[in-house]
Order: sequence, then structure tokens, then C-alpha cells
Amino acid sequence: MRAGSMNLSGKKLWIFDVDNTLILDVEHPNPFDDALKLWNALEKRDVTLAILTNVGRLSGRQVHEALKKAGFNLPIENVYTAGAAAAAYIHNRSSGARCFIIGEGGAQEDFVSHGLDVTNNPPIDYVAVGADRGMTFQELNFATKMVNQGARLICISGSRDYPGVYLGQEDIYIGERSIVAAIEHATGVEAIVVGKPLPEIVIETVKILGFDTSESIIIGDNPRSDVAGGKAAGVTTVLVQRDPDNIVDFDSGDLDTTPDIDVTSLEELIEYL
Ligand SMILES: [Mg+2]
Repeated sequence: MRAGSMNLSGKKLWIFDVDNTLILDVEHPNPFDDALKLWNALEKRDVTLAILTNVGRLSGRQVHEALKKAGFNLPIENVYTAGAAAAAYIHNRSSGARCFIIGEGGAQEDFVSHGLDVTNNPPIDYVAVGADRGMTFQELNFATKMVNQGARLICISGSRDYPGVYLGQEDIYIGERSIVAAIEHATGVEAIVVGKPLPEIVIETVKILGFDTSESIIIGDNPRSDVAGGKAAGVTTVLVQRDPDNIVDFDSGDLDTTPDIDVTSLEELIEYL
């Protein structure tokens, strides 16, 4: 469907993806011009702006900081990362659980701020795995042992690989889903993947912010995370066409990946607000 056949004035909660939607990615935080224009138009209206990102390498605070520098202002409470979603998931089941985290620091910060006990020593209740380009064999081996001893296994988002910069090196890096696959293979335990396209994450974000899914809209570049998760949650979905080389691969199972609205530029949405 084109933007023109949709009236968007009833949408009170606008949830944005970050990488390849608002900015190129968190390691190249250059804003997209069309995204800035839509954002500025929305700021003049009586709507709530929020972020739902699968990035788990940075904390919510760090993502908020990067967006602010790129020109996207919003309250920090409206920024939801995969790390924060995983922390909330664990906290809701076992507050203060002992968690061993593979990650680059962002998820650790989100876990600590949710009151979880982040530790490198047994006993471990949850092993949570995010993208980590400095991960050691020892950490992977320890995580595997803890899962064998009964720890639950959580995957913080589900990318197979993603483009980024690490220690100054531009490259494609294997993602958390691939690291978790090693632990799954070694233990026979299947991980719970917390991040888009899990519909519960979208529904939870809408609920926490005090809205109904019918008055919410999600905007992203990725049919298999943003669109699949949004659609299954009952939220209106917008797919913005970006460089296909920058679209991160996620497993969307049999979820519907057809967007309600398909645009080449986010500016196209402005006249239907
Ligand atoms: Mg994206």
C-alpha cells in the first residue's frame, strides 16, 4: 500500500527502528535526511516518539546519546533496546537473578539498571548472549558449562551478522545468533531470542508507553524484524527502502513480512499526518 491511501492522523505512538532507519548504524551515526524531516514534523504534533532497536551492544542510554547527537530528540525513557528487553524479560521471571553476559558492555548496563546481578561466577541463573567482538573462548566455554548446569539461555536480539566498526576495523561481524548457535549445539538447549521480530517486545513497548496497538505505528528498514514483529503485534507497519546491503539478517520464521505501507523516503509520510 502507498502512503497516500492511509490516514495516519490517528497514530499517537510512533515507534522507530534505529540502524538503517534513522541513522546508518550506531557506529556510523549519520542521520538520514528524510528521517530527520519526518521526526521534525512529528515533533510539532501531539504524538509520542519512541525507539525499539535490536542493538544490544549499546545500552539504552548510549543509543539515546547517539540519537541526540544525530538530531533525534526524545526522552530516554522512550528508548527500548534488545538488552533492556532481555533484562525486563528476566526480571519479570526472576528479579535479581544472577546473569552471565556475553556482550560489549551495553547489555551489562541495561541489566544492572534493571536490578539484575551481573556476575562472572557460578551459580548462574541466566546466560545472556549479545554481539561481542572481544569474546574469548573461555567466556564461550563458561557460558556453555553454565547452560549445561541448568542456566536459562537468552539471545539478546537475533542477528546472524551485521556491519560495524571494531577497534577501528570496518567489517561484517558474526552476530549474537551465531554465537548462541555454538552454545545450543554444545548443550542441546534452545535459546530464547529476545528482540524484534518477537511480537511480545512490540506489544510490551506499546503497553509500557500507555497506548493501544491500534493507535501505534512502527517504522523500519527490515521486513524480517520491524515489519514481521510489528504486524504480528497488530501495529501498523511502515517499511522504508534503504540500501539492501545494510539490512541485517534475522530469522522471522513464518511471520508475515509484508508491510502495510511501503515508502522510498520517510518524507512521503508527512502529508498524511
Ligand atoms: Mg534497522
